[in-house]
Amino acid sequence: MEVTFRDRTSTVTEDGKNRRWIYPKIIKGAFYRYRTWLSYVLLTLLFTGPFIKLNEEQLILLNIIERKFVFFGVVFLPQDFYIFVLASLTFLVFVLLFTLVFGRVWCGWACPQTIFMEMLFRKIEIWIEGDASKQKKLNASPLTGEKLFKKSLKHSIFIVLSFLIANIFLAYIIGSAEVLKIINEPITQHIAGFISIVIFTILFYLVFSKLRELVCVVICPYGRLQGVLLDSKSLVVAYDYIRGEPRGKRKRNNPTPDKGDCVDCDLCVQVCPTGIDIRNGTQLECINCTACIDACNSVMRKLNLAEDLIGFKSEENIKAQQEFRFGKRIYGYAAILLVMVTATATLIIRRTDIETTVLRAGGTLYQERDNGTVSNLYNAELVNKTSKALQFSLEPNQANCQIQIINKENKIGKGESVKITFFVIKPKKDIKEYKSTVSLKVISDGKVLDKVETTFIAPPNI
Ligand code: SF4
Ligand code: SF4
Repeated sequence: MEVTFRDRTSTVTEDGKNRRWIYPKIIKGAFYRYRTWLSYVLLTLLFTGPFIKLNEEQLILLNIIERKFVFFGVVFLPQDFYIFVLASLTFLVFVLLFTLVFGRVWCGWACPQTIFMEMLFRKIEIWIEGDASKQKKLNASPLTGEKLFKKSLKHSIFIVLSFLIANIFLAYIIGSAEVLKIINEPITQHIAGFISIVIFTILFYLVFSKLRELVCVVICPYGRLQGVLLDSKSLVVAYDYIRGEPRGKRKRNNPTPDKGDCVDCDLCVQVCPTGIDIRNGTQLECINCTACIDACNSVMRKLNLAEDLIGFKSEENIKAQQEFRFGKRIYGYAAILLVMVTATATLIIRRTDIETTVLRAGGTLYQERDNGTVSNLYNAELVNKTSKALQFSLEPNQANCQIQIINKENKIGKGESVKITFFVIKPKKDIKEYKSTVSLKVISDGKVLDKVETTFIAPPNI
């Protein structure tokens, strides 16, 4: 058997000098239908997400500029950095473990790049220019009126779509209200926002009209990591070489004994959006889009052979000719994830609407008052982490303490903070030790929103 190896990616010509343009054929099999339905759901969520409000906040906001993040109506500010770090770590572990077990399913089924490319831009291209062979012919033909019309129409629609995506993308970063202002108010008032929309429109247009699969194959860091994330147990789109080889032509209902089930029709290669031949094994370019499964299943059905010559399998499953089973390894990973998710969820649940930091004021440690009491002076900063302005009061948790606020601040705007200075006052007769703990609570609308402890210093001779 001739030993061959690939010394180039599927998207460059054999001499390595030029881009090989991919014209994937579309086979509308079961997986394609599932992906289409899923993409409708995801596209609807993606486009409506910035306009859905929960707790008066955008459903999801990733405002890196103002360091404000909103998930399902819950606002996370820089004070919640520790939750953000743990949640990011949990997400990272989830992605790593999920990829280790289920391969690159995200890429083919849920990644916005694939959804936009395959379910929006590709469909428009096919609608205007025809299927893969017609597109190839059109691109090779000289410029005619028809070609000019088709190309102009396609690229105009691509630009409009890119503009829409740019607006939505920006709405997730600066908020839909800001984007609507950029659209409705004079450009001169929103020069930076306008330039951002133009830049993102150009970027998305280039991604979906020119770069295409190169984003998944060359640019995406997650794609580049596949080599280290996958192992022989990972469930990936794979060709059953034991069943399929030796490949070769065969007649319907007349299996040639010396041939495997692969009839070498090349359909799995023709439908691949990254231009690879999955029969060469798991490859970096494979985004698990399942187009080759649909293609091969359609061939198998015509030949009255069992489906799944290409399917979701692991290398070990193929070698042992066994079905994929959930093993100890997967349960182990699930347990690790469960611990991390529980820790993150606990932090989120325990997170308070107001975050209070109390520090003892500099200068004297304590003040002895004429009325038989001792006081300590404190500075506090209160951050309102909710999406509405809050009235608050600071109260002691112990019955024998009193609080005297010096500046009369009792309101915090949404996402804002206030600084207050206050005395904690205790009767001398109740003080037993030089240093004790006082517990304070922040109350708003009759509810305790935060509790905080600090030290209280008394005169040594008391
Ligand atoms: S090999 Fe199959 S699953 Fe992988 S990208 Fe190509 S068509 Fe999609
Ligand atoms: S589609 Fe199936 S039968 Fe045809 S070449 Fe690919 S693996 Fe072989």
